[in-house]
Amino acid sequence: MDSFRDLVVGVESFVPLKDGSFIKYINFDNAATTPPFKNVMWFINYFSEYYSSIHRGEGYKSRVSTEIYESAREDIINFIGGSKEDTVIFVKNTTEAINKLSFKICSQYPNCVVLTTEMEHHSNLLPWRFRFHIDTVRTDSCGRIDLENLEKKLKSYYGMVKLVAITYASNVTGYINPVHEIAALCHKYGAKIFVDCAQIIAHKKISMKNEDERKNLDFIAFSAHKMYAPFGIGVLVGDKNSLSSGIPDIKGGGTVKVVTDDFVVWDDLPHKEEGGTPNVMGVAALISAINTLNYIGLDKVEEYEKRLLKYASEALKDVKDIRFYCDGIEDKVAIIPFNIEGVNHNDVARILSEEYGIGVRNGCFCAQPYVHKLLNLNRSDIKNIIRDSDITKRPGLVRLSFALYNTFEEIDRLKFALEEIVKKYS
Ligand code: PLP
Repeated sequence: MDSFRDLVVGVESFVPLKDGSFIKYINFDNAATTPPFKNVMWFINYFSEYYSSIHRGEGYKSRVSTEIYESAREDIINFIGGSKEDTVIFVKNTTEAINKLSFKICSQYPNCVVLTTEMEHHSNLLPWRFRFHIDTVRTDSCGRIDLENLEKKLKSYYGMVKLVAITYASNVTGYINPVHEIAALCHKYGAKIFVDCAQIIAHKKISMKNEDERKNLDFIAFSAHKMYAPFGIGVLVGDKNSLSSGIPDIKGGGTVKVVTDDFVVWDDLPHKEEGGTPNVMGVAALISAINTLNYIGLDKVEEYEKRLLKYASEALKDVKDIRFYCDGIEDKVAIIPFNIEGVNHNDVARILSEEYGIGVRNGCFCAQPYVHKLLNLNRSDIKNIIRDSDITKRPGLVRLSFALYNTFEEIDRLKFALEEIVKKYS
């Protein structure tokens, strides 16, 4: 199976190196953002002829735009294996979705306990931390979720945990959590489950619903910019009953049925939760990306990316002084965190870019507790990090994250570059 390179914008771009020459760019930073699909950009261009403000306009373009925006909800439900009981709320991104959900859960269960895990992105930690009593499920020595620890916490807070917020796949190690097994555990102890799908959505077919309904996922969120569509649009999906409670976090135009001087009747879901003029173009682009992923087939994407991961894991093992921070290739999306002994992660990333035209990410990837644990840092190490004003000296990792358009040849070029870096700098 060839890569799906032809479908993606910008994969043949040349970029300047430090010495002034030009080289074909390699992007191994797809966990941050993927480039857009070509037909997403085509559709944006096409739709710009027709798009207009939605819902209350009677003009032809308003009606077309409203139809595209509203019908997108059903396409999303189909894509993520949701059900009629679920509502789709459009937001800016995963971060906004989680903040919104935390507001909703707080209005329902203000004094409850929320469990998160050590492997979460800050976006699935901080919204909970400032509204609830939270506790954190441990990861084991390899960085994988410790299910026994989860059950122990669910038992010890019996009845008080109303939500477990966990990522489907880690943005640091790529580990995929057994979210349906975890859902069954949560439901056994009376808790609901929110699954952060930011890192899985473009890499593996998901289904909120399961044959065994105890394993259903209650809420999920993801961002379009990690699935070949533009920035600024994401979704929160979940059970209508839970999401309809309380007042909206963002109040304003579009959220109400009636407003007088002294009372407000809020609109029904999802409009109640989509205050202000929505990102119609973003929704259209997201649906175009979903159609393309459906057309390719996420099973094929998963299989291809697994091959890239296997190839890279084997090839990079031979690089002298490389140290990996995750194990195996099973139950993983195609992400590899590593360091080169004796070369700071900032320098590795900078040299890969300046001298070899390879884009990677380095640092803690907005998952500091997890990266600190993988690096075996204790509290006093962390205090020293805060004191050190030179952020380039802070500990961290280099992260490779592959996507459907990357190739085996690109991995060969990376291996060569890393070997050169070891020779010259370690
Ligand atoms: N959750 C995970 C696992 C992520 O990797 C990211 C972004 O990298 C986010 C949440 C936040 O996504 P966004 O910045 O689109 O809100």
